[in-house]
Amino acid sequence: MARSFTQLSTLLEWLDLDRDKLPFQCDDSADFPLRVTLDFASRMRVGDAGDPLLLQVLPLQQESAVVEGYSQDPVGDMNAAVSQGVLQKYNGRALLITTAACAIHCRYCFRRHFPYQQQHIEPQLCDQTLEKLNAPDITEIILSGGDPLTLNDQRLALLLSQLKQLPYLKRLRIHTRMPVILPSRVTPELVNILRDFPLPVTTVLHINHPNELDESVATALHQLRHSNTHILNQAVLLKGINDSPEVLKELCEKGFRMGILPYYVHQLDKVHGSAHFQVSRERALELEKQLRKQLPGYLLPKFVTEIAGENSKVSIGRF
Ligand SMILES: *Cc1c(COP(=O)(O)O)cnc(C)c1O
Ligand code: SF4
Repeated sequence: MARSFTQLSTLLEWLDLDRDKLPFQCDDSADFPLRVTLDFASRMRVGDAGDPLLLQVLPLQQESAVVEGYSQDPVGDMNAAVSQGVLQKYNGRALLITTAACAIHCRYCFRRHFPYQQQHIEPQLCDQTLEKLNAPDITEIILSGGDPLTLNDQRLALLLSQLKQLPYLKRLRIHTRMPVILPSRVTPELVNILRDFPLPVTTVLHINHPNELDESVATALHQLRHSNTHILNQAVLLKGINDSPEVLKELCEKGFRMGILPYYVHQLDKVHGSAHFQVSRERALELEKQLRKQLPGYLLPKFVTEIAGENSKVSIGRF
């Protein structure tokens, strides 16, 4: 992570791009700074300002546009906090904000304005958190953030050793981009920690474009599968990046070759700064229809949106 790009000028130079000749205005003064690993950047095409991986991380001036309907907390996270760093929206599932850190800063992130200072847990859980989680109506815990795999193996092992004591827990889930953004994070120790967890573990990755997947990711996922975790993917529908049936189909098929099952395609949450990525609902429905015609049922992701206050993610055909 220390070798990541955090300066716009360095990244552009590395990609052989001239800031003044880009087809859009960049703005690297934002409070959500540029961050991308060398691994991820090395999958970008040199000299291509429209590269679908570059567009996910490039800070643009458009982000400061105030657009009606876009807000700091588009999915009602703050109303879902049942204790410090514990979000509960849906039956049976509690989501833990384990860290504020990520190895990449995705410009469209719905938690880009999240008040991590006020809302996070420590790997050594406090009594209040343990009490909250030790409840018959919490059967699945989701480690989220930030990216929970930015915690080192020791801190992760500490957290899991407490979770495995919870008598009502049936499943554990980890929402992470790390195996894709920094494949070397899948250490033998991580594989052991997950394999030794006494309950089924599901890893939900976040990959938006097939170019994010290369041999180094395939190798990391191959290792990860030794821990018996189920591997799923959620993508975010992003204008100019993956809003075509060909790209989404390739994402599903290429991922499957690496052991990933498609889970969700999310309609973009309306977070301030992301409006230029929005794909219309009509287009999303059309993409789903096209994919449904071409892919077997088990490779077809569910197209969903999140509506604050609903008791599950909502199929885009239904709202
Ligand atoms: C999305 C989300 C979940 C997970 O929902 P699934 O449909 O089970 O994947 C759980 N908790 C919160 C707070 C969420 O936002
Ligand atoms: S990895 Fe996930 S949490 Fe981190 S910036 Fe990207 S979308 Fe947001």
